Amino acid sequence: MQQPLGLQFSRFDNCTKCSLCVNQCPVSKVDWSFPGPKQLGPDWLRIEQGSGREIAPHTAVNYCSNCKLCENVCPSRIPLASINQWNKARLIQNGLHLRERILANPDRLGQFAHLWPQGINFFASSRPFRLLTEKTLGISADAPIPIYKTQTFKQLAYRSFKTIPFFDLSLSRAVVYYPGCYTQYNRPEIGIALLNLLGRLKIHVLLPDLKCCGQPAISNGHLHRAKENALENIAILTPYLEQSIPVIFSCPSCLLTFKEEYATLLDIRGADYSFLFLDVGEYLRDEAGLLNLLKQNEIRKHRFAYHEPCHLKATGLGTPSISIMHDVSTSDIIPLQAGCCGLSGSYGLKADKNWVTSAIGENVKRRIVETKADAVITECGMCATQIGHLSHAPVIHPLEILSELATSPSKNNSYKRECL
Ligand code: SF4
Ligand code: SF4
Repeated sequence: MQQPLGLQFSRFDNCTKCSLCVNQCPVSKVDWSFPGPKQLGPDWLRIEQGSGREIAPHTAVNYCSNCKLCENVCPSRIPLASINQWNKARLIQNGLHLRERILANPDRLGQFAHLWPQGINFFASSRPFRLLTEKTLGISADAPIPIYKTQTFKQLAYRSFKTIPFFDLSLSRAVVYYPGCYTQYNRPEIGIALLNLLGRLKIHVLLPDLKCCGQPAISNGHLHRAKENALENIAILTPYLEQSIPVIFSCPSCLLTFKEEYATLLDIRGADYSFLFLDVGEYLRDEAGLLNLLKQNEIRKHRFAYHEPCHLKATGLGTPSISIMHDVSTSDIIPLQAGCCGLSGSYGLKADKNWVTSAIGENVKRRIVETKADAVITECGMCATQIGHLSHAPVIHPLEILSELATSPSKNNSYKRECL
């Protein structure tokens, strides 16, 4: 299998064996048989290069959750997690298991679930059905599954808000919003909160039909599918990007995939528009009218705990939505600083990985209890699913709070938990 040029494999030889990556790896901390990013990446590639022939990757790469915490700390800037995902794809190139095929396509899964969401939610909460699914498909009976909503984000959006046609763009400020599969099928409230905010700022929102970003396909070793999605997404977005219209993301994993993985791991060449792919907080932070709009209203003072998703850390943007909240809200926001939540997208849904996920998540669970928070804030949908499962606390996206601050919320608002 050909090495993606964008990954710059030659860089692996810059590894100084400092082991900072191993020290950060959440899987290495709980599974002592996991060799860790250094051995699976640069060490393995050195052996392969020295032998002068192609050597099958170590099967332990399948236990890498693609959290990217190793890449964040590597002083030699070696794309360790991406090398692991490429090696996963090399391992399975002779055949992808049904489970990985299902988990690699959350948009298709969402479309299917949307045919009868009540039924899917019922079966997902039925213990006998989950045990059967574990036996037949290898999807853990104990893993958290997000609830499917009866109406998708787009259905709600088109019903409630007016979007403008493409040919009117010269008249107005506009952004393209990429909701991601979680907002589209599981928590449309996040996207509706954004439309509410942008509508009040008189910014038009465009919602072209885009595919899944490809991150679940990458993490399941299905690089082929990820590349197909990426090419289609870029083709759809190019007319907007050519007019310098930004694309904003409420999910950090989708953002990271568009911003980095498309050009590196998926090797998509061409014009680099990554500067137009923005985190929603990063975009809103620069909106002059935002702070005035938000400061007009007060919500009941809360005690929030904040979980920073690993993929948001990997973007290097900091926590822009939380900075806005600090500027406008009187609520306490306590950083959990408990590391990875453990779920890592579809990783923790797999029966053989679920114990790793649970062990990693213990830190987050303990910290939430210690903070005595009313609710937890996080930007990532699957982190929210895992945190709700671990702690039974309500988990919300920062946009939902910002949207409340922009309207006239009830002074007694409270938040409720939403996962099975
Ligand atoms: S991506 Fe995460 S799980 Fe994989 S090797 Fe790096 S730190 Fe470990
Ligand atoms: S952090 Fe980077 S340089 Fe240090 S051991 Fe890991 S890969 Fe090598």
